[in-house]
Amino acid sequence: MTVTIGVLALQGDVREHLAAIEASGARAVPVRRQSELEAVDGIVLPGGESTTIDKLLRIFELFDPLRAAIRDGLPAYGSCAGMILLAERITGGLPDQQTLGGLDMTVRRNAFGRQVDSFETDLVVDQVPDSAVDPVHAVFIRAPWVEEVGPGVEVLARVESGDAAGRIVAVRERDVLATSFHPEITGDVRLHRLFVQIVADRR
Ligand code: GLN
Repeated sequence: MTVTIGVLALQGDVREHLAAIEASGARAVPVRRQSELEAVDGIVLPGGESTTIDKLLRIFELFDPLRAAIRDGLPAYGSCAGMILLAERITGGLPDQQTLGGLDMTVRRNAFGRQVDSFETDLVVDQVPDSAVDPVHAVFIRAPWVEEVGPGVEVLARVESGDAAGRIVAVRERDVLATSFHPEITGDVRLHRLFVQIVADRR
């Protein structure tokens, strides 16, 4: 049975995630209202600007329903700004910036610093088939990193070389997945397939 996965469509690279989900064998639908949220088996929080998405979530009256849905077990996948939204704790946020939570971790916004606003690297990502031989090409754009994780969080990937070597950039806790980078823009849908599998297993 095909699962239906929503992509939060308030701001950010929504189209890219919709295409990557469709390419991974699930039905993808944009989500802008509570009725649409209630109809999905999982939700993707796209990259974009977390402060803007936070404000729009409240304007669209989706903040509380989405937070409750994730708390009640709705599988979620966040890339970049989406990772920030899924963090229980953030540093470097705006004073009034809130997060949905779902992942027991602290995330630092814009962590990689001004000199390396954007960079690309290859990563081995746990649970992504064959990534040890065929690495995931990871694109970071003013990306966050994960500063610390609670005991229930699995670290799936760390930066392997350079100034940020060792920094955590992919995590999973139960059915909630997050990456600092943007697999939706590379054409490699293995991370989206992992999320589709998480959603299918949950159903
Ligand atoms: N720096 C952005 C933020 O704080 C995230 C960037 C991204 O999603 N590419 O939300």
